Order: sequence, then structure tokens, then C-alpha cells
Amino acid sequence: MDTLGIYRIDLKGLRSEVETRRFVADDDFFAVVGNTDIHAGNVVVDLTVRKAAGDTFLLTFVLRGTVTVTCDRCLEDMDCDIEAERELNVAFGDVYADEGDWVKVPADDGCLNVAWHVYEFIALELPLQRVHGDGECDPEMMEILGYHTAGAEEKSEAPTDPRWNELKKIIDNN
Ligand SMILES: [Zn+2]
Repeated sequence: MDTLGIYRIDLKGLRSEVETRRFVADDDFFAVVGNTDIHAGNVVVDLTVRKAAGDTFLLTFVLRGTVTVTCDRCLEDMDCDIEAERELNVAFGDVYADEGDWVKVPADDGCLNVAWHVYEFIALELPLQRVHGDGECDPEMMEILGYHTAGAEEKSEAPTDPRWNELKKIIDNN
């Protein structure tokens, strides 16, 4: 299984100054990248590779699609829209090194697999708080997890009728 093989970019073997690639980060992709909050997805990745001076490369990723994560409140699946544009500068060096905006690739290999970068760019787009919109959480799960619906809360917060207290006293005394 070589789900991530297609993400390997042969920079040394580029045939023109500008090349484009399209990947689809799908369920298989997220399963293979693994150890992840994202359990499914469909994100189209348009990559443009531009060869610049002195054996450096500018990689531009345009990402569009949706991924499925777990709702922090009801623990059911929820979809997050992904729309981002990210850049990565790549240069040839002695050893592989990831220095934030710059990635060094060993010159004798000349290839870079961008699968992990694609995953990181998508993960960066996820909101810190992943919850469904108001009223969109799974009602059954909410009940199991002990959340009260708005109606139940109102009821428990309503002041006790003082006549009920009086009646209770009478019953207790008997
Ligand atoms: Zn939810």
C-alpha cells in the first residue's frame, strides 16, 4: 500500500519551471497518516511547484474540502470546512531538515514527500474548540453524557413554590 507515495515530489527531476499537481486527501490518507484527530475527509490539494534561483523551490498548496472530527461536546462526528493556502520553501542541503518555512532536502535524493505537510496544513485549519452549532449536537448522546436540555434546566432553576414547602412540613410531621 503506497497511499503516500503520490505525495513524493521529485524536485531534481522537474521538467519545467512551474509544475502543478492535484492530490485528494481522502479517508485512506487520514488513516495512513494516523495518530490523528481527523478520522475522515475529502480535501482537494492543488500544489504548484516553482523552481527559483539557486536550486530553491517555492511550493504553494491550495486546500479545499471537509474533514470529520469529533465534537468536543457530544462526541459524535462533525464536519469542518477546510479552505487554506500555504507556502513552503525548499532548498537542497546535506541532510533532511524542517526549519519551519524552509525545508532542506538532501541534494543527492532531490525528492520531498509532502504528505505530512499537507496533513499539518489541514490540522492547522481546525478550530481549537470543535463543537456542533447550537442545537446540532446528538440529542441521545447529550442525554447519556448528562447534559440537560434547555427545558429541563429552566424547570430545575425555577423557585420552589412556598406552598409546596408548607405542605411538605405537614407531611413530614405526620
Ligand atoms: Zn456535538
